[in-house]
Amino acid sequence: MKEKTYVSTRGKQTPLNFYQSILQGIGSDGGLLVPVDGFEKKNLNELLHLSYVDLAANIISSFVPSDGYDDIHKACVAAYGSGLFPEEVVPVKKAGDVYIAELFQGRTAAFKDMALSMLPHLMTLSLKKMQEDREVMILAATSGDTGKAALEGFKDVEGTCIKVFYPIDGVSPIQKQQMVSQTGNNVEVIGIRGNFDDAQSAVKKAFNSEELKKLCEEHDVFLSSANSINIGRLIPQIVYYFYSYFTLVNEREITLGDKVNFTIPSGNFGNALAGYIAKEMGLPIQTFICASNKNNILTDFFTTGKYDANREFYKTNAPAMDILVSSNLERLVYLFSGKDGQKVNEYMEKLNSTGVYEVETEVFENIKELFKAGWLSEDDIIKTIGECYKDTGYLLDTHTAIGYGVYKRYQKESQDNTKTIILSTASPYKFPESVYQAITGERLGEYDAIEALNKETGVDIPTPLAGIKDREILHKLVIDKENIVNFIGERVKGK
Ligand SMILES: *Cc1c(COP(=O)(O)O)cnc(C)c1O
Repeated sequence: MKEKTYVSTRGKQTPLNFYQSILQGIGSDGGLLVPVDGFEKKNLNELLHLSYVDLAANIISSFVPSDGYDDIHKACVAAYGSGLFPEEVVPVKKAGDVYIAELFQGRTAAFKDMALSMLPHLMTLSLKKMQEDREVMILAATSGDTGKAALEGFKDVEGTCIKVFYPIDGVSPIQKQQMVSQTGNNVEVIGIRGNFDDAQSAVKKAFNSEELKKLCEEHDVFLSSANSINIGRLIPQIVYYFYSYFTLVNEREITLGDKVNFTIPSGNFGNALAGYIAKEMGLPIQTFICASNKNNILTDFFTTGKYDANREFYKTNAPAMDILVSSNLERLVYLFSGKDGQKVNEYMEKLNSTGVYEVETEVFENIKELFKAGWLSEDDIIKTIGECYKDTGYLLDTHTAIGYGVYKRYQKESQDNTKTIILSTASPYKFPESVYQAITGERLGEYDAIEALNKETGVDIPTPLAGIKDREILHKLVIDKENIVNFIGERVKGK
């Protein structure tokens, strides 16, 4: 039996098995974990008619030791086949000439549920396999949606506790209310004065802190991550690329083997990277269209090859994409640079010290061939929601609107009429103020807008958002961004 092994994008991590990779969350050298032997090619014919649960078990078990299928299948049943999602898990709808894969049907009405319904099962499985009896403290930085989805996923999961850090002024009122009302005896939600990047970099710092490492040893705790730096977040996201493609085949919109495009509203680039892995596993994808908001650092990267984080950070009406340091781009750069950890290490050191790195021309040419990119201003987001609703009757949220608008522009400019699937990353009811404004031209507060939007459009309010206004606030703590690492130390000491 060949063990699949994982190494770090920065080249200095001793190889780990799958379960160790899940538990560790990030490379010991600060890099991200990737399978050393690349990705298993799939036989599409064999997968075409599988249910979401069976497809997920098949795809995800490609990443675990070969005796792991039964455990993974059980986990997939618990995550996707036990009522947390509707039966088809990811409905694919048609809006005009595009397809929209709805990734927001889970417990928190955002696409983070796709992976975070699964990660806790992968985590407990890994604890068991590695005969680990220390408690795992899950750390998550959030721009709004990861936090709630991670809290729902890990609440009351034995052997784990979870700390979520969110920027107090960087998430929407509904996102905040969802998090601060979270129940569960192992959860804590902490507001920080700072933005998402501050939270994410503090969490990464915590993993590399020698002092914290020592504290953890003394208190029988270890740290792991629920962000998409954890390979256990990424792998479950590969599944819906296959699933939405097969849905089009089974509904005779395309023929098996036809190429399609995917458009992905992107922030930390985890979603898009999972799509690239799906392509490497044999899914016929022609082009990825990476869509951003005014924080358009990825658009610039995909048009110039230069990643330049020296720019202003904007808070927008698509807050889950308000990010300047897109962690998972590191994995893409690694895979396109001939898996040269030393090179990636140099790039990341440059990024840390100067805020900028630039990939080599040859590497960039290959990336540019596959990835197109664009961005939408806040006004254009609102306009796009209105236009799409008028033209097709489909109600977009602000993030998915970016995907739709960027795709429409790309289609016009490139004359590429390949069938295209847009990944919808949130329910319109998660950002009702903007969506209501887009549809009616009028402004209402978030909670009033939920009801009004429902009256206006007849689109159902997702159950997780019903009655949210009246939930009791259970988490009030706010700390400075400089204190995050210390804070984690204090919580470790309390164990
Ligand atoms: C997280 C999120 C994104 C960005 O996804 P990445 O994997 O970080 O690129 C886009 N839209 C919504 C609604 C999200 O919650």
